[in-house]
Amino acid sequence: MAVEMLNTLRRIVQQVNQAAELPDALQLLVAETKKAMVTDCCSVYLANYDLQCFELMATDGLDASAVGHVSLNFSEGLVGLVGQREEPINVADAQSHPRFKYFPDVKEELLSAFLGTPIIHQRKVMGVLVVQQRESRQFSANEEAFLVTLAAQLANVLAHAQVRGMLVPGSGIATTAVRSLRGVPGAPGVVVGRALVSAPSIELDAVQSLRSDDAAHEQLRFGVALTATRGDLEGLHERMGGELATEFRAILDMYGQLANDPAIARAVVEEITAGWSAETGVKRVFSRYVGQFEAMQDPYLRERAADVRDLGQRILAHLVEPGSTVSDPGGPIILVAREVTAAMLAEYPRERLAGLVSLRGSNNSHAAILARALGIPAVLGIQEFPLSGLSGTELIIDGYAGEIFVDPPEAIRAEYQRLVVEETELRNYFLVEADLPAVTPDGHAVAIHLNAGLSADTEVGQAQGAEGVGLYRTEIPFMMQDRFPSEQTQADIYQQVMASFAGKPVTMRTLDVGGDKALPYFPVREDNPFLGWRGLRLTLDHPEIFLVQVRAMLRASIGYDNLRIMFPMVTSIAEVDEAMRLSRQAINEVREELRHSERSLTKPKLGVMVEVPALIYQIPQLAGRIDFLSVGSNDLTQYLLAVDRNNARVASLYDAFHPAVLAALQQISSDAQRFSLPVSICGELAGEPGGALLLMAMGYRQLSMNSHNIARIKWVIRRTPLTKAQEMLREVMTLESPQQVRAVVNAHLEALGLGGMLRAGR
Ligand code: PEP
Ligand code: MG
Repeated sequence: MAVEMLNTLRRIVQQVNQAAELPDALQLLVAETKKAMVTDCCSVYLANYDLQCFELMATDGLDASAVGHVSLNFSEGLVGLVGQREEPINVADAQSHPRFKYFPDVKEELLSAFLGTPIIHQRKVMGVLVVQQRESRQFSANEEAFLVTLAAQLANVLAHAQVRGMLVPGSGIATTAVRSLRGVPGAPGVVVGRALVSAPSIELDAVQSLRSDDAAHEQLRFGVALTATRGDLEGLHERMGGELATEFRAILDMYGQLANDPAIARAVVEEITAGWSAETGVKRVFSRYVGQFEAMQDPYLRERAADVRDLGQRILAHLVEPGSTVSDPGGPIILVAREVTAAMLAEYPRERLAGLVSLRGSNNSHAAILARALGIPAVLGIQEFPLSGLSGTELIIDGYAGEIFVDPPEAIRAEYQRLVVEETELRNYFLVEADLPAVTPDGHAVAIHLNAGLSADTEVGQAQGAEGVGLYRTEIPFMMQDRFPSEQTQADIYQQVMASFAGKPVTMRTLDVGGDKALPYFPVREDNPFLGWRGLRLTLDHPEIFLVQVRAMLRASIGYDNLRIMFPMVTSIAEVDEAMRLSRQAINEVREELRHSERSLTKPKLGVMVEVPALIYQIPQLAGRIDFLSVGSNDLTQYLLAVDRNNARVASLYDAFHPAVLAALQQISSDAQRFSLPVSICGELAGEPGGALLLMAMGYRQLSMNSHNIARIKWVIRRTPLTKAQEMLREVMTLESPQQVRAVVNAHLEALGLGGMLRAGR
């Protein structure tokens, strides 16, 4: 497509994106497309799935009064045919086409040529974009390519605008349908509560270009926001004290320099003087700088574009929401954020936190895992959810289906309230047996451990029945601080856990940041963070962080002697050797400190997480070096299937019931047994009833899961003979798809009388 065409296309998409409401966006779309394609008519029809029809939503060329009145059934007319075929239709003489449907109201009798293309978002036809012309001719291949490209780019924009329209009362959208949105199920459960939008971050690109005729006022606002941003940065610098890693110090220094650079401030003031609002001035100047950095040859400087953008967004946040205070709607809170972090969750008391919505993330991202650990329903990956004005609105979160209802009508609210009660009853039903051991009817015992990390008190309180801690995610307390916690602070945190589980094993994992887990004070920006500087890779590059942490764990374990330490994201034997060497060094240091004391340190067992597929093939080499293996099935699944666990777009491809994942898990268990290496599993699969039974059949005898699954999994194991689970595994191992596996697992659960309540859902 010619460059000129591409520019036109980009301009139309941008304009549509910036329109405040859906009807304006659509009207702009048809007018601009008609102009760009030099044709006689352009119209857009949107699908109404409740009424099974396409409704004419905007036109430039047909009779304007038909908008809002004309609709075609999905099986009617050329528009219906475009929707059915999900591909463009290009005919020279529409009226002689057998599918043409005549509407007296729309006055299209003079239009002969017809080109319609579907607008498809996430595999679903959202509407049809049509251009028509008087002259009877086939639209050219170039014109068709233009319309198809436009429709593809618009799908996202329209989906966003449509939701925005649904949520803004009086936006003119004729919809009586319930406002519901679909995302990815993040944590099971249903809840009714009010939205609390946390720290809305404003993206530079999302700022609409606005003019202002009060330059003095805008300058003043900009000055206040800039000063506040500088203050934030200085505060951050001070809070970090001497504990900063050099990379981070360099980045903070760079932020400081930019924030204090008079040239930037001057450029924004110039934009304001030229008649733009302060927000628009910041957007224009920072977008320019970002562009310049992105175009640089030097990869380090190119990377800094993200920092420049971030700084611009920090200033914007102060402009848009001075003081950035979030109003609390009272009652049960449904926390809504672009990206929910552990620190955000920690801000609200558990009793009030009823649900969670994260625009970013997917079913196995850490926000989802945190929500499951807290036992609150969550929906993630709703890209098109406008946050402004949402705080205080009533929401229903259906964490099973991944659905949200906004301001639901009474009938739906009543139905969900009933489900909430049912759920509580079910949970209590399983809890009755939580303290009984997980021993199968044919006498095989499985140790059930806890995945923890949020806070010792709440989790331990809820973790009825846990026989130890199988995974303590140390990065979570790190994420809740504003600097690297000192050795003593860490030791205090870890000691609480050791004390709560005195006499039972506590497996602590060394810091696992990177991927979708970032420390606010140690930003790591990478194109492929899950394949990048993550877990042990990062801490081996910072032995000071590693050593402080291991020493803190060791000191915390004195007197309890129940510590086990494991390393995340291991790929190679050399990493294991280095981690073991550093651990031995830390052990010697702590022993040295204790030389003149009564107390002594018991050497902890040291293990490795199997998360990177490479390790599946290195179990013989690991056997002589370490004490145990722990399978992280969440990462193992993402790396085996090459599916980002944090990407909602590929959520349906992420599945631990994939036959390849099951084969890998089986092989790990057999090889570990062959080399007498104890192996446990701490990924989310162990907390699913069907998953737990398959793992048990493979030979895993230690399963670790969040507190809310413990009672349920024990209940299932106590009712499933190992021989039955092995039968199920044999059948499952012959299957070809995760869907088939689920069907077989569900049939077995059903046959055991464990049906509905425990299904392997999707
Ligand atoms: C895993 O990857 O399975 C795991 C337990 O670690 P995390 O979910 O914290 O990455
Ligand atoms: Mg992991």
